Amino acid sequence: MSAAPELRVDRVACTGHGLCATLLPGRIRLDEWGYPVVDDPAVARAEGERAVTFCPARALYWSDRA
Ligand code: SF4
Repeated sequence: MSAAPELRVDRVACTGHGLCATLLPGRIRLDEWGYPVVDDPAVARAEGERAVTFCPARALYWSDRA
């Protein structure tokens, strides 16, 4: 049985737009420089997929990404 995918941030690709924190309030917060922090990465796909799709830097991904 495989583990559930987790929501991750590619910190190299992320440009700190902050859109993800707007789309997933309570799941993603921004640090003092405006970069996202995922406190609990066990986000349901149905909940997090919109943030993954709309991240302008394509920096949000699921841990099962190839
Ligand atoms: S929306 Fe994407 S680029 Fe913007 S802060 Fe979130 S992960 Fe980074």
